[in-house]
This record gives sequence, structure tokens and C-alpha cells, in this order.
Amino acid sequence: MTDLHRLSIREISEGLAAAKFSSRELTEHYLKRIAKIDPQVRSYVTVTNEVALAQADAADALRQAGQATALTGIPVAHKDIFCTQGIKTSAGSKMLDNFISPYDATVVAQGKTAGLVTLGKVNMDEFAMGSTSESSFYGATKNPWALDHVPGGSSGGSAAVVAADLAPFATGTDTGGSIRQPASFCGLTGLKPTYGRVSRYGIIAYASSLDQAGPMARSAEDCAYLMNVMAGHDAKDSTSMDKAVEDYVANLNATTLKGLRIGIPKQYFNVAGLDAAVKARVEESLKKLEELGAVLVEIDLNMTESYVPTYYLIAPAEASSNLSRYDGVRYGYRAENPQDILDLYKRSRSEGFGAEVQRRILIGTYALSAGYYDAYYVKAQKVRRLIQQDFLKAFEQVDVIAAPTAPTTAYKIGASLDPVEMYLGDIYTIAVNLAGLPAISAPVGFDQDHLPVGLQLIGNYWSESQLLSVVHQYQQATDWHTQRAAIAEENA
Ligand code: GLN
Repeated sequence: MTDLHRLSIREISEGLAAAKFSSRELTEHYLKRIAKIDPQVRSYVTVTNEVALAQADAADALRQAGQATALTGIPVAHKDIFCTQGIKTSAGSKMLDNFISPYDATVVAQGKTAGLVTLGKVNMDEFAMGSTSESSFYGATKNPWALDHVPGGSSGGSAAVVAADLAPFATGTDTGGSIRQPASFCGLTGLKPTYGRVSRYGIIAYASSLDQAGPMARSAEDCAYLMNVMAGHDAKDSTSMDKAVEDYVANLNATTLKGLRIGIPKQYFNVAGLDAAVKARVEESLKKLEELGAVLVEIDLNMTESYVPTYYLIAPAEASSNLSRYDGVRYGYRAENPQDILDLYKRSRSEGFGAEVQRRILIGTYALSAGYYDAYYVKAQKVRRLIQQDFLKAFEQVDVIAAPTAPTTAYKIGASLDPVEMYLGDIYTIAVNLAGLPAISAPVGFDQDHLPVGLQLIGNYWSESQLLSVVHQYQQATDWHTQRAAIAEENA
């Protein structure tokens, strides 16, 4: 079969079950596509050919023995922030270019238990800091819809591999939008779960109180399959929630759009940098949801102006603390011929970290230093609580909140936004992480350059099922999620 890469996860699952093709054939098909097409997209940091084929054979054997489950033998790509035993885990950084993880992240381990086949590790902004994937030590990944544009970030590789059909679905992480924004830029569906729904164990830490992993795929249905594997309590992550996991696939039709109250935050649609085409597509999608039975309710989110400054104090503060472990002594990059221990620390960190990471460490260290701690860090924590309360108040009136995922479509590679400009692009995604809420991005059309636009739906705590279900209903009635970039149409 030459078009295995066009199948949805459900179709792959059914095809494997009906022995229309084997996991080995499917895996070889993807590996062939990666070899032919990825040199243009540059999404994989590591392709794990041998591991993948061995896992595929093991999956086929399980199936022969009658022990296969829904996802046994389906390939996946992991963001290079998830530790993978025996495989390089770089977090997009020179600092970890030589790091072979001795253990698997819980998400990766759960994937193995479910029978997923690891195709490889995909590119990302260095330590997940960024919105373009350009800050990677391995260079920029290209947007499959327009190769001179970025795929978004930080999970840009995860988005690019799915959009170019170089993996059927992928894992991502979202600290301030890194699943949703690249999903939006690449015409995909991406879910950022409630903080604590997915284990953070074995995910290279950026900002621990914000980091959360989730699925990136073509549709809500495909995301639901991966979410069934990723979600769950983990004793190894003290912030993971001991709460029963729903069957996200079984619940895809559980929410009805009839009477669903969708909040439209006034402040969000008056943001200065909101692109006209993005605004128009998002409004059209809301109209469609209304036609399908939803009720649009105008709401206030009064803290909107505080999102960017609050996030850009808290995230760098936590990052500066988390990244102090990279000292050239324990593991990772070590500078050559140090004169003394201080020189070793200084040069290892100056040579091992890129510019954006160093900028964040400096901001974070400053915000946490004696004398500034109360004025910046503690103040930001107080504002963070107000942002959360603002959302909770809104959820007394509505079931979900709608917003653009990002104010623009994908940037040109090398557009060299200054850092503050780039931070402003996170306006619609970061408050969700500050509040710990779940949110999903889904494709709702294109701009004048045929670059994808995303609609974001934000839910109350633990409403992943509802969000997936709402998007699933929308996707049953529309076909934006089935459209493919030209490069995905190429055969290997
Ligand atoms: N763009 C945001 C940042 O740079 C979000 C990144 C993320 O979610 N990992 O911090």
C-alpha cells in the first residue's frame, strides 16, 4: 500500500486488526517517507530505525498471539524533551547533545506498554523556550505548508512530522502554548491537558508549575487515542493527579453542541496584534459552532493585559532554577581545558546554552534575587492567582471559552522578531498554563497565503473529554482537519 500515511489512527488500528497490513509494513512505510521527505522539513533530530523495526516486529508477534490492543504497532514520534532510554534526548540543546537517557519518561514507557512504535525524536526550541523552533541547536524545522515559514514552537518538530505525514501522531509539551501554537501553525489538532493529568516524570523541565504534555495529531479523534495512552496518575510525579482517567475515544460523542455555552472574551478580540484573517477565520468557526447548536456568550477576562508580564516572570524564574543543574560536572556539555571550577561552570554554560536560554536564565535569576524577589516573583504569583480567578468566574457563566490560538499565522523563518515581539505572540495561550487549565487548538481555515489558522477552546479543570468531543463534533461537520500540505501528498 502506498498511502498508509493517509490513514487516521482509527483506520490504522482497524487495518492492523484486520491484517490488511502489518506494523512492520507500516513502520517501514514511515521510515521510507522520513528518509525521502524529512531532508526538506528537517523535523527529526534522531530517527530510531532499528528500534522502530524491532518494536514493530514485537507488535506483530503480540498480534499473532492475540494480545494486541487498539494501538499495538502504531508508530509515534516523541518531542526530544521526553527521556528515551538508550536514545539521545537533547531538548534541542548543545548542552544535551551528548546525553543518552538512562531511563524512559513515563509518557514514553506508557507508549511502549500500549505497543506504540518509536520512529524517533523530533526537533524543538532549545529547552522548549520559544515559539518558532528556530532556537534549536539543530537548526530550524520547516513548516510543511510553506517551507520558508516556521512550524511554530516549541513543539515545532512534533507539528511538522504530523503535517508532513512523517508520523501519524506525536507527543508534545506545553508550558505556555507549545502544543497549541504549533498545532495552529501547521493545521493540526493539539491538546494541552489540565496540569497534573499527564505525568511530567522524565520530561526535561522548563517551568515545572506550567509544563504539561499532550497529544498532537490531525483530528480530535486521533488526539483522543494518544491521550488514552498519555493520561494517568504517576507515583513518580508528585504533581500528577490521582484521578480516574476517562476513555477519551469512547467519549468523543459524549458532549452535545446543543446548548453548549461558548464564552467569547471581549478583551481577546481587541488585541492590537490580532491579524485580520485569523480573526475572520475564528469568527467563522464560531458561527459554524453556533449553527451546530452552541450558544455564544460574550464574557470578560479582565486580566488579559497581565498575561505576558506574569508568564515572563514566572516561567524564566522556574527555568533559571531548573537549568542550574547543567553545570558541566554532572552530565551534558563540558567546556574543554577549564582553568578552575568557576571557569568550568562559566564556560560550560556559556558555550552549552543558546542566546534565548541564557536570556531567560538572566531574567529568572534577576527576578528571584534578594531585593527583587518580592517586587517581581511574589507579585507575579499574586497576579497569577487573579488570572485563575478570572477564568473560574467565567466558567460560572459558560462551558468553554473560545479564542484564537495565536494572533498570527506562521512567521517567516528568520523574521527575527525581537524577543518582546515574540513573547507578545503568546498572549492567547499562556494564561491557560498559569491557571493550570486544559485547552485545545483545532484548524479552522487558512489566511491569504494558505497558512493554517487555529481556534482555541479553553475548558474548566479536567474537561479534556469535553474539549475533544466539542472539536470532534465540529470536525464531523467540517473538513479543515482533512486538508493536507502539498509535501504530505508526496509519495516516498
Ligand atoms: N512560547 C512560550 C515560551 O517561549 C511557550 C513555550 C512552551 O510552551 N514550551 O515560553
